[in-house]
Amino acid sequence: MAPLPPESEPGNLEPGLYIVATPIGNLGDITLRAADVLRSAGLIAAEDTRVTAKLLARIGSDRPMAPYHDHSDSRVRSRLLERMRNESVALVSDAGTPLISDPGFKLVREARAEGIPVTTIPGPCAAISALTLAGLPTDRFLFAGFLPAKAKASADTIAEFAGLDATLVFYESGNRLARSLEALKQGLGDRPAAVAREITKAFEETVTGTLGELAARYADAPPKGEIVIVVGPPEPAAPADADTLDAALAAAMATQPLKSAVAEVSAALDLPRKQVYARALELRDNA
Ligand code: SAM
Repeated sequence: MAPLPPESEPGNLEPGLYIVATPIGNLGDITLRAADVLRSAGLIAAEDTRVTAKLLARIGSDRPMAPYHDHSDSRVRSRLLERMRNESVALVSDAGTPLISDPGFKLVREARAEGIPVTTIPGPCAAISALTLAGLPTDRFLFAGFLPAKAKASADTIAEFAGLDATLVFYESGNRLARSLEALKQGLGDRPAAVAREITKAFEETVTGTLGELAARYADAPPKGEIVIVVGPPEPAAPADADTLDAALAAAMATQPLKSAVAEVSAALDLPRKQVYARALELRDNA
């Protein structure tokens, strides 16, 4: 375990943990505040120090770095927590928002447990960026990260999401894209979807279609680069037709009082109680 770099010129930041989002492709997307924190933190904990070194060079930061992963030895975490008591420690991942399919959760959990202040410097995130590109509902969404690599585990995970009335967001790689799109179609039905690729980079592209259309498009042409799949929510069920309502009311009214028959049928067919009640009165009066 390599020692942490020694304390150097303290910056002007209060001690604590700073979660700093960094660009997902276009370095111009660094925020003013992220650049300030990365230029003044006492120490920068980075997923890959070689990747972060390029960003630091671009923004003119000479702050010392130390590698950090959630699977780092717990002694590494303890040492970082110790440093946060007296100086500012910034956490960055290779790209985007730390903790989102990236290291940081354990560090934040332990910092909070020890009463160390945690500050977030929000910024780019591929999942949120893809949602803004897809043209699918954004009022309710579930970020599902990467699907498991094994087919059975992937199908089981997809089955857990099938009944959710929400847009689903997955991270994916080019060589697994077609297989995942096909598995999503099998598990969710042929829903509308989008594949957002290389967001903010030179070859950025967003392709929309049904899951089946997208699976076919990428089956023999696995795309290069980084990918987010966005899948629309299930279509709302078609309202029950008049014959179905009459049959359900006749059966319910044969065995229970009108009021409870109406309650049962309106819940079962997801129809407004007022509408079901009016029809129940007609059926009773015409009987
Ligand atoms: N923490 C990052 C964030 O905030 O988006 C995500 C890190 S995760 C290890 C990497 C995955 O994010 C990639 O495999 C890809 O699915 C997605 N991703 C990252 N950058 C992307 C980009 N520029 N375009 C599309 N997807 C991207």
